[in-house]
Amino acid sequence: MSITGKVALVTGAGQGIGRGIALRLAHDGADIALVDLDQTKLDAVANKIREIGRRTTTFIADVSDRDQVQASIEHAHSTLGGFDIIVNNAGIALVGALSDVTPEEVSKIWSVNVDGVVWGIQAAAAKFKELGQRGKIINASSIAGHDGFAMLGVYSATKFAVRALTQAAAKEYASDGITVNAYCPGVVGTDMWVTIDKRFSELTGAPEGATYEKFVGGIALGRAETPDDVAGFVSYLAGPDSDYMTGQAGLIDGGLVYR
Ligand code: ADP
Repeated sequence: MSITGKVALVTGAGQGIGRGIALRLAHDGADIALVDLDQTKLDAVANKIREIGRRTTTFIADVSDRDQVQASIEHAHSTLGGFDIIVNNAGIALVGALSDVTPEEVSKIWSVNVDGVVWGIQAAAAKFKELGQRGKIINASSIAGHDGFAMLGVYSATKFAVRALTQAAAKEYASDGITVNAYCPGVVGTDMWVTIDKRFSELTGAPEGATYEKFVGGIALGRAETPDDVAGFVSYLAGPDSDYMTGQAGLIDGGLVYR
């Protein structure tokens, strides 16, 4: 397998897309450092990875805190004996009209979705350079990083920002043999979408489930996305077949937006 024996760190790995990515990279042969806010969820994913037959370790870190992100990478390296791939996946949503969003809400989502990716890029690149090796940095953007969606304006802004960081980092670290790419999922049936749908319903009076169904209705392939759909693309970005790709933010959304 193409990434056999590599060490990958995945943030937001306790559930949803991050969990799917962690399991897929383990199936591909990598050892996985799992980072999230909740130990119980991480333990469940770690058990699955051991069943697959790969080594794993867990680390509680808030990605908006630079020191904690650095510590998670040190932990991955010292525990698993390497560090080759980081997936800056952790993120949160914010549903709200631009007329109503508060400074606290904007600061909070920015600190996780954007600052978190900055710290992940910075710490991972520093570690790859310290180890004198190549590396892969993979960031979570979104369809909302290609289109500004109503009621998701600030969320969309954070995901556009991830694309900007991906492009800039690709240029800054190219000469170090580090590639930087992003994945842009569409409507994935995770807790995040349950929350988004509920908030739309509270704020607009739409029946529960209607927002989710409306978005799914726009998908050319005619079904909602699964974490595995996303993970397959991330597996490609993590492996050698994508060695000549950098600075890209690939849409993996079943044909919901076209860019
Ligand atoms: P997605 O659709 O992106 O998978 P989820 O909400 O299901 O959305 O999962 C996001 C994951 O990111 C959760 O496991 C959550 O605990 C994690 N997460 C959110 N904020 C942070 C943070 N500040 N630091 C680390 N992990 C986080």
